[in-house]
Amino acid sequence: MILQSRAIWASKGNLIADGAVRIRGERIAEVGARVDMAPEAGEPVADLGNSIIFPAFVNAHCHLDYSGLAGGLSPGTSFADWLAQIVSIKKSLTHDDHEVAWLAGADMLMSTGCGTVANIESVPGMYARMASQTPLLVCPFIELIAYHSEDEIAAIDLAQNELMANEPLALKVGVSPHAPYTMTPEGLKALAIFADENLLPLSIHLAESDDEWDMFVDGAGPLYDTMSSLGRVMGDCGKGTPVQHLAKAAGFSKKTLVVHANRLINADIEMLQRVGADVVHCPRSHAWFGHANFDCDRLAKAGVNICIGTDSLASTGGETALIGLNMFAEMQELSRNHPELPCEDLLQMATENGATALGLGDEIGVLKEGLIANMAVIPYNDSVLSVPEAIVHHRRPVSMLMIQGKRVFSGIDSIVD
Ligand SMILES: [Zn+2]
Repeated sequence: MILQSRAIWASKGNLIADGAVRIRGERIAEVGARVDMAPEAGEPVADLGNSIIFPAFVNAHCHLDYSGLAGGLSPGTSFADWLAQIVSIKKSLTHDDHEVAWLAGADMLMSTGCGTVANIESVPGMYARMASQTPLLVCPFIELIAYHSEDEIAAIDLAQNELMANEPLALKVGVSPHAPYTMTPEGLKALAIFADENLLPLSIHLAESDDEWDMFVDGAGPLYDTMSSLGRVMGDCGKGTPVQHLAKAAGFSKKTLVVHANRLINADIEMLQRVGADVVHCPRSHAWFGHANFDCDRLAKAGVNICIGTDSLASTGGETALIGLNMFAEMQELSRNHPELPCEDLLQMATENGATALGLGDEIGVLKEGLIANMAVIPYNDSVLSVPEAIVHHRRPVSMLMIQGKRVFSGIDSIVD
């Protein structure tokens, strides 16, 4: 099958006017100019007219099962306060609530052009039940919490069981020690070893809040008090930044997605670069909590791969909550705070960089021969030169989303049958 359109943004620096994509089965067979791609005998051709085709987004961090919590929490007086709210709300949620929210979140992502998501799975066994219910390529990262030494073995067992259950179903499986404040240093090390032994990416919330900073740098603050009251042994606190803490614990694996990285010193950035970590920035969650400006520039200059995640709707409010999980909205928030960033760079963060972070750079994230046919379409009838800007600032559902060569979503203004 050939799809033709006014423009194709295939990847950064690769914009094709009057383009065409040939799809065979699940994969892309060819990308190029329309005039160079003659249909073979009997091959269907769909002319999408005034539109842009671009790679489906890769959302590098999400909690689909919190999608029912949109606007239900407040940033609170501290990060520890927000954590207490979500822990309390989660106690009232049933398995059904989690599953309904998980699927609703997947639909939100697909309607706004996302084809793959690195999802933190907080309910053991749930991914295996849900995987067949959505065409979205969900990469499950089982969430692990072990801040008492006696819980470390159970965390490794859970990671092992989830790996066995999920690996046959998913494009990529990972592990997610929740955060250094909800893990023991020994647990962090054991999970990094587990990830490396099984060639898995590891995702961890790190250097997210001032409270986390105060706990590890000063051995004080609301999060220190909360975790101490829960019986966490706090001897590892007051000794360095969160990034230094993870490094000292040997908690970086060979493929670590550092989620947030909101507060970093120069030595932290050097460390992230040295261990080859990828940073996942979640612009709307960042704004909602009111964190200080994300240090995009210093990270990029150090050569750290930066990608974009939506985080969950538990860290949204007002209009943002209504918009739902939406990678366009994340790029728009990032662009608002960093107007110097070219739209092509924002798009690369939302596509190719996420694929790289997941170790899926040879499968998804750009439109290229041999890769999985994951692509989105939006209407467009302006100059081809403004295509990246048009994609970043798009505000409606996409016209069409294709995952693994199949149309999985059509917007109301879709021109694709
Ligand atoms: Zn998160």
